[in-house]
Order: sequence, then structure tokens, then C-alpha cells
Amino acid sequence: MAEESKREIPPEIIERVKKLREEIEYHNYRYYVLDSPVISDAEYDALMRELRELEAKYPELITPDSPTQRVGFKPAEGFKEVPHKEPMLSLDDAMEEAEVIEFDKRIKRFLNLPENMSIEYTVEPKIDGVAVELVYEDGLFTVGSTRGDGYVGEDVTNNIKTIKTIPLRLRKFSEDAPDIPKRIDIRGEVYLTKEEFKRINEERIAKKEIPFANPRNAAAGSLRQLDPQITAKRRLDIFCYGVGYVEGYQFKTQWEILETLPKWGLKVNPLVKKVSNIEEAIKYHHEIEKIRDTLPYEIDGIVIKVNDLSLWEKLGTKARSPRYALAYKFQPTQATTQLIDVVFQVGRTGAVTPVAILKPVKIGGVIVERATLHNEDFIKNLDIRIGDYVLVQRAGDVIPEIVMPIKERRTGEEREIHFPTHCPICGSNLIRKPGEAIWRCPNKACYAQGVRRLLHFASRNAMNIEGLGEKVARDLVDRGMVQTPADLYYLKVEDFMKLPGFAYKKAKNLYNAIQKSKKTTLARFLYALGIRHVGEAMAQLLAEKFKSLDKLMQASMVDLASIPGIGPEAARSIVEFFKDEENRKIIERLLQAGITFEEEEKAEEIPKVLEGLTFVFTGTLKNFTRDEVKELVTRLGAKATDSVSRNVNFVVVGEAPGSKYQKALSLGVKTINEEEFLKLLEEKGITLEDIKTKILKEGKTEAKTTLF
Ligand SMILES: [Zn+2]
Repeated sequence: MAEESKREIPPEIIERVKKLREEIEYHNYRYYVLDSPVISDAEYDALMRELRELEAKYPELITPDSPTQRVGFKPAEGFKEVPHKEPMLSLDDAMEEAEVIEFDKRIKRFLNLPENMSIEYTVEPKIDGVAVELVYEDGLFTVGSTRGDGYVGEDVTNNIKTIKTIPLRLRKFSEDAPDIPKRIDIRGEVYLTKEEFKRINEERIAKKEIPFANPRNAAAGSLRQLDPQITAKRRLDIFCYGVGYVEGYQFKTQWEILETLPKWGLKVNPLVKKVSNIEEAIKYHHEIEKIRDTLPYEIDGIVIKVNDLSLWEKLGTKARSPRYALAYKFQPTQATTQLIDVVFQVGRTGAVTPVAILKPVKIGGVIVERATLHNEDFIKNLDIRIGDYVLVQRAGDVIPEIVMPIKERRTGEEREIHFPTHCPICGSNLIRKPGEAIWRCPNKACYAQGVRRLLHFASRNAMNIEGLGEKVARDLVDRGMVQTPADLYYLKVEDFMKLPGFAYKKAKNLYNAIQKSKKTTLARFLYALGIRHVGEAMAQLLAEKFKSLDKLMQASMVDLASIPGIGPEAARSIVEFFKDEENRKIIERLLQAGITFEEEEKAEEIPKVLEGLTFVFTGTLKNFTRDEVKELVTRLGAKATDSVSRNVNFVVVGEAPGSKYQKALSLGVKTINEEEFLKLLEEKGITLEDIKTKILKEGKTEAKTTLF
């Protein structure tokens, strides 16, 4: 028997459990003692979840001091200890609907209830704050404490007293309120509003202090001050949600508690609700998640509790959490990742914003690769560096933002961020007005210039990117997706799908068009760069003379100016363009993206065998339409006209000729038929086959088109 129950636990599992415990202990310390976590809550939850799963699989690994066996941390030094008469447990949490349904099923199994029976629950928002216990004796507030490790908390009575919404004495504020019990321990969540949280963090950043990662840490940090005067300066608030030890009164349901507390003067969240089954609880979760961003305080889920308190006793608790309640979490809004680079984006108003390029990280189901770094002061005060691990936040529709760097994870390889002194688009000197945090480009046309440059780059005779019109160029520049044309080649289909009016197909088409444009000619590329004085013809000339971009980039003023057709002004402009560090970077990025130059086809001119002659055509020809034959003689260097005069050399007469024939005869102009016309060409070395396969095949373009 005993032999059978023994099993080998793989050593890597034992090692992993040990590692997880160490890590979690460290994060517990950062979180509970220092109020300064170095990973996001979601990442912490993931570690806990992994440990809990491993311990469920290998229960023999559970030790009494495992982080799964406790709910918080021992009181910090400096605070008097307060034992809780009833332990303050923490809640199991769920991320998925399936886990919530399982919670309901487990309760019914435990209580031996039929599976189709409905259980009544209370539901309430889960406030992102600090759990506290308030002891009232004969209605008088006597002791306030934090949760601590669930059994012993920290005495924060004097700090609690600074919170104006916590009554120092309970009173009956309603006719039907029960009498105040002899003793009642009230449970609640102390929190900060989003506005107050923002104010506190702005103050800290201005003082070059690391901001609080989230409102809960800020609330905890404010409440756990040894000096109540500091606490008093932070506008803390509370929502009460339950009771611990009670003497002299017996509540029957959780709903009764939620209804009674306000009648005694205690604040309860107005969104609490009673629901008749688990499906309604799930529906409530979705409803609250929808209004989450509009609430003045931060919430990170809902709490579901069995309403009937007599069932609580039957259900009891596990090691650290009760069986009758569950926290059903929302999608996380924060994660940590690495800051790879910083680019500077010029907005419509000229404001230059630093944008963090991040190692892609999933936050609440969305991949985040860019986040705002706000402004220069934010970067400087927090001493954020390239290579840093950073806490990133993405809430609702708001642009993702960097919350803070995690300096504990520095390796020494990090680089300082240099704010540019010149506009990344137009090169103007940036200006920062006194009292403003924003650097601006003073050039009013600058933003438009960025859009124009992109349009020129993509235009037909430049890189010829189909589908990149004015609207798209504007949107790309507007969103900071494209600062310089090189950025185009680093965008993915998913990126284009973020543009207004872009579904998958349109995004894919634009992406393909950009990829296609990578195969180009040196002349097109030079023209696309938008160098002053370098138009299409000049670009063609430069490509012919230098044949390689490298050689052109190294050319001196003298080299260039000695080429016929290149004046000193153009020569200077070209040299300066390639000398510019920014331009060189852009070119390097373009080439890195895979732009290649094909040898331009060495095309021969069409021999202008009919040069100097003028033709008129009349009647129907067998081999050509009227337009074709006119195009033909034009391409061969002759002139085609519709009116007969003495200046006309030949009138070509087809079937059923018109009045032009008569006029030619009367003026004595030479007339020939189609056969004679073809013979004339043949004498000049042009066969009908040449005409059909080469000269007319290339379509109706201007006569200068080169063919063979
Ligand atoms: Zn500018």
C-alpha cells in the first residue's frame, strides 16, 4: 500500500517549485512591504497560478510556508500588530467563464445539491485598493488594521482616522436599521480615485521619485505611513463590503450586510447587486467591464459571493481562501517588457512626442509594441533608459503608456535617451516655452511636409507604391507609424489594419504594394529620396553616370559639377543631402529593408527613319487603324496631320478615301496606297513584323518611349 502511494517526482518539478516560491516571496516583499512591485499583477498571478497547479498535482510538495498557504505578509516593522478575530482571507480568482461555472458546480457538489438548482449570489466590483478591518465597540471606532498575513495585521488606526468617509461612531441613519451591535468588525477596501492617484504620481515624478505602479499600491503606500499627517494629505476613500467578527447581531445573508452597513453610516459601493444564479453573475461581469473605464476608481474584476451566510459555514475554507466566494478578474491592463528604442513623433500641432518601441507584449489580449513616454521631463525624472524593463499600461481606448522603469532589472547595458534638438521631419530648431513640458517644431508646414515627402516617395515615378494616397499618408504620419519613408518597409499587415477603413484585404494589398516596390531602379530611388534639385531627369542622369548608390554618396562637389547638366547648386544640394546623418540613417534603413536596384534595360531608340516628313492618311487601311498608323509614323520621327497642304510629303490613301484625296490631287501632293507605304518603310529597314511585334506593341505612350 505505502509503496504504491509513493511516486517519483521529477527533479525539474521540485526545482521549479523551489524557484517559483523564491520568486513569489520576493514579489510579495516588493508588493506588501515596499508597496513597489517590479512585475505586473497579471504576471504575479501567473506565477501563483503555476505554483498552485504544481502543488495540486504534487500535494506532497506543499509546505506550511509555501506562498500558496498564506494571504499576505507579516506586518512591517514600526507598526503594532493587530490580530484579526476572524481571519481575513483572500479570494481565489478566475480569468475565464469556465472557471466561474466550475466554481458554481463545485459549491453544489460540496453541498450535495442537484446540478440544475440555482444558487443566489451577491456581486460587486472588485476595487483595486487595500483591504482593511475596522473594529467598532459599542459603535465607537477603536482599531483599524491592514490584512497583513490574514491573521495578524498592522495597526493603522490613526491613519484610518484621516479618512473622512469612515465614521468614528456608528449611528442609526434609518428607521429600520438594526441596533448597533456590541462589537462589529467591518471589512472594506481603502482606495484612491483615479484622479487622486494621478495627482500623487505626478507629484512624485516631479520630485524624481518612482511613481506608484497602480492605485492599490498608492493606497497601500499612503495608508501604511508611520506619520498620519502624510496619509491625511492623500484623499483616501473606502468601500465597505463585509463583516468579520460580530457580537450582538446575526446577519442572515450577504445582501443584508450590504443593505445594513449604509444605514449605520458606512459607505458601500452603489453597484453591488443580488443575482439569482451564476449566469446572471457572469452577465454582471460583462456589464461592469464595459463601464470600467468610466468609473472614477480602478477596479480589476468583480467579486461573487454566495448570498446565504448559513451556507458559508457549511462550505468553509481551504488553506487560504473561502469556498463561498470568487474574484472574477477582468483582462489585465499592465505588463512588463523591454524598451528597445525611442522614436520622436511630430504631431499635427508640431508637438514632438517620445514614443517607446517595445519588445511586443500582450496586454489584455492585445499585442502592444509602442507606448507613449509623454515628454522629456517624464523620461528625465524617471531616468528611463533604452534597454530598461518597463511597466506598460493599456486601458480602454487610451494610447498605451509607460508607467515606470524597473531599475531593479538593470544590467548596466542600458543607454540614456537623448531628446532631439531638431525636428525629425524638417530639421527646424525645436522650441519649448517656459512652463510647458512639450517641445514643439515651430515650422507650421512641418507636419504637412512629412505627409508630402511620403506621398512623393510613393508616387508613380518614384517608388510607385499603389494605394498610398493622401489620406493614407496622412493617417500613417498622424499615428506616428511613419516618420520617414523607411518606416513603411517595417510595417506589417496587422499595422495597416489599425488605419481607419482598413480591413484585412486592403491592408494586405498595401503591404504587398510596398514589398513590390523594393525592386526598383537606382534612378527611381534617387528621385524618391526627394533631394532638392534632383528631379526625374537629374536622377536618371546620376544613375547613368554613377551606376551605384555608394559611388554617388561619396561623390564630391567637383565630381558632380563636372558632369554636363549638373549645375553647382544641384551639386551642393546632392553632397549636403548625403552628408546629413539623418539622411544616411534613412538610406541605411531602406537598404536594410531589402531595397534592390535592377540594371535599367539598355534600350535602343526607335530609329527615326521618317524624320522630317509629314503624312496625311485618308480612307480605311488593312493593317492599321487610323490611330495606330498615326502613332507609328510619329514614333518613327514623322509628323501626322489631318489637313492637306503643300507642306505634306505623302497622302496615304486607303479604301474609300475622303475629300483629302481630292485635295491632294488638286495641290499636286504625292499620294501612295498602303502597299507603297509599307514598301517605303521596308526600304528604311522597318518591316511590318517589326511594327506589329515591337513598335506598336508597347502601347500608346509618348513618342519618346525607347524600344529596340
Ligand atoms: Zn518640423
